[in-house]
Amino acid sequence: MGTRERIKFAASTYQRGKLTSRVPTSAQLRKHKDGQYYIHIQIKDEPPKPIKSDKVIGVDFGRRDIAVTSVGDKWDGKQIQNVRDRYARVRASLQEKASKGTRSTRRRARRILKRLSGRERRYQTWLNHNISKLIILSALQHNAIIAIEDLTGIREHTNEQPRSKIERRRSNSWAFFQLRMFLNYKAVQYGVEVVAINPAYTSQTCSECLHIHPVKGKSYRSGKSFKCGHCGNHCDADENGSKMISIVGADFVNPLGGSVLCCNLADHICAAILQTTSGLLKAPGF
Ligand SMILES: [Zn+2]
Repeated sequence: MGTRERIKFAASTYQRGKLTSRVPTSAQLRKHKDGQYYIHIQIKDEPPKPIKSDKVIGVDFGRRDIAVTSVGDKWDGKQIQNVRDRYARVRASLQEKASKGTRSTRRRARRILKRLSGRERRYQTWLNHNISKLIILSALQHNAIIAIEDLTGIREHTNEQPRSKIERRRSNSWAFFQLRMFLNYKAVQYGVEVVAINPAYTSQTCSECLHIHPVKGKSYRSGKSFKCGHCGNHCDADENGSKMISIVGADFVNPLGGSVLCCNLADHICAAILQTTSGLLKAPGF
């Protein structure tokens, strides 16, 4: 101590690769628990400049499907839902055991419960990483930006009627927020712009003719299906939603590009869209 010593830098090809042509900003030398010294190096990574495009891919985070895009990609929630429902059943029975039973049964049940929650979470996280990455790649492939519903909209959206106990557990979950978060940070990383639009009427407006049900409180959307009473468009409700998100998004990105929205829509939707246009964009990659 007190003197300078030169120490060989033991780094693998992987680590050297990570350091190549990047700017180190700081470093700390740390003694780890195993008695070895490690150096932690921070590097600055400049994200690519977001591409400018007036093409917009709408992404709808559905209730039954995890995500549907306006270019036809779809991740249905069935697989993850089966996994989650199975975990939920096991959890319920374990919880009963953890509250009754002998002391050792209770302890064992608690331990399994903890492990289960970790496994379920890791599966969901893995899935969210994949989905968000595929959405970003799709945007790059189409040279498009991404439009999603504003965060506050998700909650209203998933709060639609009817809501059983199972539905409640499914919605408002951290998984939806995690997927959005992943999408946002990967968007910054890959230089894809994300705009958040006001979700007012996106789930109820027909993406073909832009009409909504003329009777207040009624909707062309019924669960998983969307059936327009004006033009007869019949499709998947989340698919219709993603297309509407893309339409509203495009109108925002390119407001002078012949607004299809305002000439066709009834006055009240027009007002809603106008109102969205003012508060539409959260800073790119917010
Ligand atoms: Zn229609």
